[in-house]
Amino acid sequence: MSQKWEESHKTVCSYCGVGCGIVVSKDKKGRLKVKGDESHPVNKGMLCSKGMNLHYTVMDQSDRLLKPEMRWSRRHPMAEVSWDTAIGRAAAVFKTFIKEHGPDSVGFYVSGQCLTEEYYLANKLVKGFLGTNNIDTNSRLCMSSAVVGYKETLGDDTVPISYEDIELSDCIFIAGANPAWCHPILFRRIEKHKADNPDVKIIVVDPRVTDSCGLADLHLQVQPGTDMFLFHAIGKYLIEQNMVDEEFIRKHTNGFEAYAHEIKSRSLQEYAAMCRVPIDSIIEAARIIGQSKGFITMWAMGLNQSTAGVNQNLALINLSLITGKIGKPGCGPFSLTGQPNAMGGREVGGLSNLLAAHRNLANPTHRKEVADFWGVDAIQEKPGLTATEMFESLKSGKMKAIWIICTNPSVSMPNARLVDEALKAAKFVIVQDISRKSDTTQYADLLLPAASWLEKEGTMTNSERRISHLAKVVDAPGMALPDSEILIRFAKAMGFHGFDFNNPAEVYEEYTRLTKGTSIDVSGLSYHKLKRAGSIQWPVPSSDHPGTPRLFENGKFLTQDQRANILGTGAQTAHEEPSEDYPLILTTGRIRDQWHTMTKTGKVAKLKKHIDRPFLEIHPDDADFRDIRDGDPVRIYNDRGDVQVAAKVTASIKKGVVFLPMHWGKKLNIDLSRANNLTSEAVDPKSKQPGFKFSAVEVLRH
Ligand code: SF4
Repeated sequence: MSQKWEESHKTVCSYCGVGCGIVVSKDKKGRLKVKGDESHPVNKGMLCSKGMNLHYTVMDQSDRLLKPEMRWSRRHPMAEVSWDTAIGRAAAVFKTFIKEHGPDSVGFYVSGQCLTEEYYLANKLVKGFLGTNNIDTNSRLCMSSAVVGYKETLGDDTVPISYEDIELSDCIFIAGANPAWCHPILFRRIEKHKADNPDVKIIVVDPRVTDSCGLADLHLQVQPGTDMFLFHAIGKYLIEQNMVDEEFIRKHTNGFEAYAHEIKSRSLQEYAAMCRVPIDSIIEAARIIGQSKGFITMWAMGLNQSTAGVNQNLALINLSLITGKIGKPGCGPFSLTGQPNAMGGREVGGLSNLLAAHRNLANPTHRKEVADFWGVDAIQEKPGLTATEMFESLKSGKMKAIWIICTNPSVSMPNARLVDEALKAAKFVIVQDISRKSDTTQYADLLLPAASWLEKEGTMTNSERRISHLAKVVDAPGMALPDSEILIRFAKAMGFHGFDFNNPAEVYEEYTRLTKGTSIDVSGLSYHKLKRAGSIQWPVPSSDHPGTPRLFENGKFLTQDQRANILGTGAQTAHEEPSEDYPLILTTGRIRDQWHTMTKTGKVAKLKKHIDRPFLEIHPDDADFRDIRDGDPVRIYNDRGDVQVAAKVTASIKKGVVFLPMHWGKKLNIDLSRANNLTSEAVDPKSKQPGFKFSAVEVLRH
């Protein structure tokens, strides 16, 4: 290191679930620079545009919340207060509501960007001590269909494989994901593998021709919402052509006969017509999969964010099970987490129906184990409200108070105007964030300034179950505190025992003890070991354990009889259909250089060079029909709301489908660039994940 850069620290990128290692250097004046960690097994020194510019988000403090702010009533303006006053008010309000209306009158809405220690503390506080299970996370919008899919098929919420399996595969099937933009460093690894091994086949399933399709041998341009039928068609062809692994099915699975019976009930022609993919392309995909030795499926929001999200997961995981391509090198289903610590949140029970260490709220033994461990009488049996349910409950007046940590629901939740109404109707709103410019802060009765990335210590888990340690590098500005410290102060103000933690290491140590004997046992992974190793994949059940890159190598799954479940999906019911009034299908998603609701990436000028404003992708035929030319201002609308942006006329989107990026919120207090004005709060019946990817709309030149 040159003299100018005095210190360097290892950490992990705080954006996507790829989990790239970063080295941060600091000079005498506190200026920062970042580079990819060459020793990190995930990215080997590479970073994408977002990661390369992360230090600017820490150094630019222009939008930071620096002091707690509070208003005594909605008629009063916000005023700066001390931490004691802020925490005292939060405790008084929560005590009052719990006393007058019961514990389910309050709730927490947290984030896949929280560190594992923060996530654990919030769950312990709410489920163990407040006496409600009303804690859910924005990972509900992102991963919950995959959680249910894994649990139903493999017996637990476990991603079986690792990034290193990419280099061992010869067929990668990417469905409902655009890793070239949304998981860029993972995609670089796929690109390199393909460049080094041209025979490796890449199949992409997407209604849009994305940058990921540039690498594909085969692009299946599926009709939105019909992916499940495409997977069934592939399964049917594999079975009929004897391209399945009969021995694996016989020894290690249940349910094959019923599944085969269900998917054979339709012809390939029928499936092709339903998903609007040419039959030859379906057969070609099935042949590539059947002939491959290493077959990986990768998916993200395109499958999960659907009212049939669980069924889409089941249908895809079935392809790995019937071909026996799981638990072997270069093989397996691989859901890509959108957020940096969505996986860590799942580990500590971040969803309102889960408990810490992969325990289930519905299981009385699990509830007792966790209650005993936390030293409380009991944990409530009734599942808490999920993300969408929480805001519906606030709107109806049933739930009185919400505490929002590290997320911006006013932009990111479906049917965002309903969320705005809910936050207005709430009796008390606490927003704990780093930024005062988040669209949600305007609804806060109490604003709590939180420390950001590099300003606190903790751990996160990426898509491949890799736990990494994040170092504290700089002090938080003003009076901002780490989220865990804020939660601990609140717990003590409420008079709860069990929160005498002096640092994140002590929180982490308590959590790891709770994992002992579970499927995610990390009782052998101390902070000391983690810092020395940099990162390691769970389970790590003993101090000399090297970590676990691949699961199920012995063919034993986590179900009661240790056999995986091949499950049928039944009929799919759409939450809405295109109609005469709203004939187009809207799908939403990310762009390459922005992250979520732009509270961080929106501050970096360099990241705006790629795309600096929202737009609507529309097919030339749909545009011609409406007399829309490229660049024209257009209005996209349905019964829920409208959006006004410029049209991008492109043949890269399927006819009948339009696309809006999800990042932009209210602009100058006019919420006409917010894609979620149009999306529906309808959810998958099992995972309760909303169907962001399918909304019926109409578009007109404005
Ligand atoms: Fe960060 Fe994801 Fe980019 Fe890696 S790929 S640098 S984790 S945003």
